Amino acid sequence: AKRSLAGGISSSSRLTSTGPDPYPLYMRSGSGARIRDVDGNEYLDYLLSYGSAVLGHAPPELTGELTKVLATGTMFGTCNVPEVELAERIQEMVPCAELVRFANSGSEAVQGAIRTARGVTGRSRVLKFEGHYHGWTDTLAISNRPAPEETGPHDAPHSVPHSPGIPTGVVADVVVCPWNDPESLRAVFAAHPAEFAAAICEPIVANNACTMPDPGFLDLLRDLCTAHGTALVFDEVCTGFRTGPGGAQTLFGVRPDLAVFSKALGGGLPIAAFAGVRELMEPLATGYVKHGGTYNSSPLCATAASLTLARLADPAVTGRIEATGQRIMEAIRRAAKDHGVPCAVQGVGAMFQVVFTPDGTPTRAYRDTFRLDRHRYDAFRHHLLLQGVHTNAYGLACWFVSSAVTPDELDRTCEAIDVAFAG
Ligand code: PMP
Repeated sequence: AKRSLAGGISSSSRLTSTGPDPYPLYMRSGSGARIRDVDGNEYLDYLLSYGSAVLGHAPPELTGELTKVLATGTMFGTCNVPEVELAERIQEMVPCAELVRFANSGSEAVQGAIRTARGVTGRSRVLKFEGHYHGWTDTLAISNRPAPEETGPHDAPHSVPHSPGIPTGVVADVVVCPWNDPESLRAVFAAHPAEFAAAICEPIVANNACTMPDPGFLDLLRDLCTAHGTALVFDEVCTGFRTGPGGAQTLFGVRPDLAVFSKALGGGLPIAAFAGVRELMEPLATGYVKHGGTYNSSPLCATAASLTLARLADPAVTGRIEATGQRIMEAIRRAAKDHGVPCAVQGVGAMFQVVFTPDGTPTRAYRDTFRLDRHRYDAFRHHLLLQGVHTNAYGLACWFVSSAVTPDELDRTCEAIDVAFAG
């Protein structure tokens, strides 16, 4: 059963946060934009299984077809028709996708992309950015959310490549640079000329409160990678097929050498992909660079992905997701203004976050998040939960919007936002 919380988010000091959830939450089922917990409470869902259920829960476009696949066989251990059809769809939609490989999760696909870049360039060093998340594997989980003492001083702002529980030797070949800092980026390439196999980033930093790239920053990164023979890898696990049919590379007009996809790709089923230019991807086909995985592109998941992409290839569908999210972003801005709460709502409609900065300015880099009022975010989320709106528990991640939200559900979401601010 739900507990009640006193006060709106502007009186958040009255709220004692005991963790990400104000009461234990165990979900039992979902359909469309809604999920249901074991007590029978219903929530409008803007977490979407961390962004996977982009068409909503149990989408009718998928469920009938997937039942047929279950009846005709889900594993063949050889090339199968659904994976070929899916690869062709990805080639059509994604600018950099000349060739495609599949995996089961975002972490695995990132690992595949990095190994490919290392194998082809013969270099091992990788450049990543502070606050960006690329999965749980040892080298790339580092410096996702470093503590203030792990980030360097302002005039030498490179994070120590460190993550709790991972020995420093394992991460020694990763250099961590602050985001949206052209000077630091130039300095890092100058200090390590022609040394990086890959530079990897989240083009919109979903795991750092949806921080947007400053205009020109991705172009600079592209130019430096080209000049130094470094493979530019866009981790589009969150942005892929969501910010529009061609993901972030279309949105920002910057073509990476390799890109990684998952989440929206499978429409709720576990599948991931990495894709890129022929020169980098072909050594995987010849076996020069190894990539395996028993369950990669199972017919069940590949079919789910093809059906999902068939919907997301339609700009009307991604346009509707975007418009829904924009209306929610606007509702948060309006409520914050009405109730005198400084905050910024950042990202795009399909994925966004609200940050309670002291002066209401957006965050540009990970270090800005040290100034966030995290308590206030918890209070905001808890008040939304009590009104049946489910969002990400971590203010440093983001809200995701599905195509299943009805106009009535959208109105209810906006009303809940207003009530959450009013208390
Ligand atoms: N990259 C990004 C940008 C992600 O957001 C995530 C997951 N949140 C991953 C990689 C890892 O994906 P997975 O959890 O499927 O391994």
